[in-house]
Amino acid sequence: PLMFFGTTNLDLCFNVERLPTPGESLMGTLARNPGGKGANQAVAAARLGLRPTFYTRLGDDDAGRLLLQSLRDAGVCADAIEICAGEVSGSALVMVGDDGSNMIVIDPGANLNVTPDMIESAARFIDREAIVVAEMGMPIPALNRLFEMKSDRGFKLIFNPAPVRPGLSAAAWRSVDFVTPNQAEAFELTGVEVEDFESAAGVAAKLLDLGPRAALITLGAQGAYYADATSSFALRAFPVKVVDTTAAGDAFNGAFAASLAQGLPLREAVRKALAVAALCVTRRGAQSAMPTVQAVDEFLKS
Ligand code: ADP
Repeated sequence: PLMFFGTTNLDLCFNVERLPTPGESLMGTLARNPGGKGANQAVAAARLGLRPTFYTRLGDDDAGRLLLQSLRDAGVCADAIEICAGEVSGSALVMVGDDGSNMIVIDPGANLNVTPDMIESAARFIDREAIVVAEMGMPIPALNRLFEMKSDRGFKLIFNPAPVRPGLSAAAWRSVDFVTPNQAEAFELTGVEVEDFESAAGVAAKLLDLGPRAALITLGAQGAYYADATSSFALRAFPVKVVDTTAAGDAFNGAFAASLAQGLPLREAVRKALAVAALCVTRRGAQSAMPTVQAVDEFLKS
């Protein structure tokens, strides 16, 4: 009973010694990696042993076939996925420096054409006990429809507000159970910088004013901060050697949702998400960087 809604992209990923400056040409090595926030999150959950359903739109093209195969191979249920004739699949140009930093440009392609009616139709895959995860790459009217369906259907809603865009309705915000921004997204949503756990507390309070029941802010190498109306806690990130931070947030969100779906208590679910995200940044790529349940168990034991 775990369902993801979101974007799928083919990442054209250049590994470079350092990121270029405007006007500069650098040499690097290219890899074509399946990506897209929603797809990465669904794969992260599937690697942990779940069989999440994923709603996304793909073009009827080579990239779309490769992306669908990658989702299936990971164990994601593709029954809700739409293959769209005459449309191109989303793609992203990703540059990753040797220090693990990245720059990304996205052409959303078929991801851009999700309508509220399509969401309504895909929602037949959601059952009452379901946990639903959505990121912000889908069109806002589609997200509003999905979130507003929650009052009737009673699923649990995790909202990863990435990339931040305006237009989410007040009712939609109020239907969110967990909003999960990173530091940059938390700043865009509240106008206040998240520098450490202390400032995260103030920002989390501002996020709760938007309407969600709880805020879970990720702070990169620092860890994560949780707050709801009555409680809060911070957990430190696991120290690891960073190779590529691409999809760290997706690993975190996918693993957090999967852990809740498996019935882990909140704090344990956040800890598991931190472990999965830590392992993710030690590997190159997006979906290919998501660890298996065995790798996570071993990591947590060591
Ligand atoms: P995003 O990838 O969306 O920018 P963050 O940078 O906040 O989000 O990273 C998400 C999570 O990934 C963090 O909460 C942390 O658990 C993990 N993570 C990111 N960078 C590191 C790091 N250098 N070391 C360990 N864990 C990390």
